[in-house]
Amino acid sequence: MKEFTLDNGIKIPSVVVGVFRVEDAKIAYDMIRTALAVGYRHIDTAMIYGNEEAVGKAIKDSGVDRKDIFLTTKLWNDDQRSGKVNEAIETSLSKLGTEYVDLYLVHWPVKGTYADVWKKMEKVYENGKAKAIGVSNYNIHHLDDLLEKAEVIPAVNQIECYQYFSQENIVKYCRDKGICPEAWGPLGAGQSDILSNQVIMEIAEKHSKTPAQVVLRWNLQRGVVVIPKSVHENRLKENLDIYNFRLEDDDMQRICSLNKDLRLGADPDNFNF
Ligand code: NAD
Repeated sequence: MKEFTLDNGIKIPSVVVGVFRVEDAKIAYDMIRTALAVGYRHIDTAMIYGNEEAVGKAIKDSGVDRKDIFLTTKLWNDDQRSGKVNEAIETSLSKLGTEYVDLYLVHWPVKGTYADVWKKMEKVYENGKAKAIGVSNYNIHHLDDLLEKAEVIPAVNQIECYQYFSQENIVKYCRDKGICPEAWGPLGAGQSDILSNQVIMEIAEKHSKTPAQVVLRWNLQRGVVVIPKSVHENRLKENLDIYNFRLEDDDMQRICSLNKDLRLGADPDNFNF
């Protein structure tokens, strides 16, 4: 469970350190150094997070071999609108100080651009600048559109996903199509009471684990990669320490029943950025 396998055979570490809203270069650098030191091998950044340089420097200085790290970055919406996909990946690679990323994602489904953008993403993949390509914040109808013309199936769809917004339909759709689902905001993005939910707390107590570990484990057990974010060493360790217990079927079902389709982030069908 430490790694899942993408449709193209590439292994993807299933617990990821995410660096959204870590704009301060020193904090981002220290956070990634710590994350790599405590065992993370998958980093999720994006051009728009403004910390690719700090992430790249932390990787270089960490002493961990580049090939042992799975690095994700994302194509921002303006670069989709302008069609400058190749320029965008080149800029990201130069900031990250690497010749390739392991995964390059289309960050949001910008209306009217998917087919053209995906053709250019396929070129990025062909040229080896990304070992895998995928999308983020795609609903089923966006994926349907894209798959109609795609030659390369997106390896990943990274979506908002936590217990009050379990996205069961998209997760199932992705699984059926060979697209690996990834959960952003898996702890409720600091805006939810999910970690103090009674059911979660009871299950955590039963397994002698923390609520954060239970909510992350639940996604892993349904085949969803999780991207928790913390800048603190103790929480980074806690969020990674989820491979040594197993939620029972009954736990899984009780957690599934918490869903209330409660989205916290932007709506992929109606966003203004
Ligand atoms: P998250 O669910 O990871 O929540 C982060 C919050 O949880 C922070 O406030 C943190 O202090 C707290 N936290 C972390 N570990 C904890 C623990 N063990 N116990 C209690 N609280 C804990 O949400 P997020 O930061 O929004 O998302 C995580 C990552 O997902 C981002 O860093 C980014 O990489 C990715 N992301 C992607 C998109 C996208 O559009 N693709 C959007 C948002 C985030």
